[in-house]
Amino acid sequence: MMPQGIAVLGATGSIGASTLDVAARHPERFRVVGLSAHRDVERLAALCEQHSPAFAAIADESCTSELEMRLATAGLDTRVLAGPQGLVELAELPDADVVMAAIVGAAGLEPTLAAVRAGKRVLLANKESLVMAGPLFMREVRERGVTLLPIDSEHNAVFQCMPRDFDRGLDQVGVSRVLLTASGGPFREASVDSLEAVTPEQACAHPNWSMGRKISVDSATLMNKGLEVIEAHWLFDVPPERIEVVVHPQSVIHSLVAYTDGSVLAQLGNPDMRTPIAHAMAWPERIEAGVAPLDLLEVARLDFQAADKVQFPCLRLAYDALGAGGTATTVLNAANEVAVAAFLDDCLAFTAIPGVIEETLAALGVAPAEDLDTVVAWDQQARQHAGRLLTRYAHRRRTA
Ligand code: NDP
Repeated sequence: MMPQGIAVLGATGSIGASTLDVAARHPERFRVVGLSAHRDVERLAALCEQHSPAFAAIADESCTSELEMRLATAGLDTRVLAGPQGLVELAELPDADVVMAAIVGAAGLEPTLAAVRAGKRVLLANKESLVMAGPLFMREVRERGVTLLPIDSEHNAVFQCMPRDFDRGLDQVGVSRVLLTASGGPFREASVDSLEAVTPEQACAHPNWSMGRKISVDSATLMNKGLEVIEAHWLFDVPPERIEVVVHPQSVIHSLVAYTDGSVLAQLGNPDMRTPIAHAMAWPERIEAGVAPLDLLEVARLDFQAADKVQFPCLRLAYDALGAGGTATTVLNAANEVAVAAFLDDCLAFTAIPGVIEETLAALGVAPAEDLDTVVAWDQQARQHAGRLLTRYAHRRRTA
């Protein structure tokens, strides 16, 4: 068997690290052909030394010469690609059979779409692609006959619990509901009042998962679950009213599929992203992922609670945006990215994040999201509007 070429978009991040860990365990199956980063040149160069890819892409063009210098000093002949176009070229590399889409945020959309258009097997961690541009993304997937495998642990679990031919339609295959589990994040039991003073460090200290900072904040606001509801809608063609969120603090059940005969199938495992990553990398086969076996006696109990949309309004906003359709989820995603970045920079209160998103959604309204230009234009408008709101929120915070 010839090893498959894999390109990792977002190689310097948390999902990137887990992907490269799994790939390194199976050199007979996987050959790293391309790696990308935004501006973490040091880490990208170190990964190139470890994996010797033919290409490395750096999104921030001002970092190009430093990366080239480091690679030359290390005696590597890895070629550097730069800027947003460099990411697209990496996603389209002829030697890449598989593309891991693990850039965080809207910056992941164009390279991920490029991988789909180039007919690659796409492993999708960048949920923001589907939130921003679900209809056109899935249309491209279908038209190109691309294999799209979900990396998000919940969607990977749903994929594992679904019948293989789920794309015939859920009613045809007897699926009644999809249940997405949520850990509830670090503030599951916090009072609404105490959330006002939450710091970025507290928000990023997830009880069960070790992740990048943006998704950690999304988990703390439950926006991550909201984005996942939208992602599940597009991946599995499930109507929003048949997607249920259940808080499950142990993060052992990663999600469930309910059938019309009353059966409910669940996927369980330790909270380690190498499991869904290895599943998608090897699918339909199974490979070792380096994950400790699940010890049910140690877990001992599995708890479930309803998700609180009053304490965590971001979940409600995501359902509402999905219901509104068109560009509403593009706006939701953009405003959320702006608000989360401001919170991480200590310029916005944790509790103000949903306000920025809700006001931006109300101000911009909705239009059909039929092509990439429309999606990009609405993403930009939403960022500008949310950015203007930040000044007002920051002022309120200073005068409070
Ligand atoms: P990280 O923040 O750890 O890593 C993000 C990666 O994206 C880094 O390689 C970063 O480069 C790169 N990047 C950031 N901004 C840009 C940009 N503007 N242009 C190009 N590259 C950029 O994120 P995670 O690994 O946690 O998450 C990645 C994606 O996977 C997200 O969409 C997230 O929602 C999803 N996901 C993550 C999970 C997890 O457990 N971490 C679980 C499920 C889904 P640099 O290092 O140079 O900044």
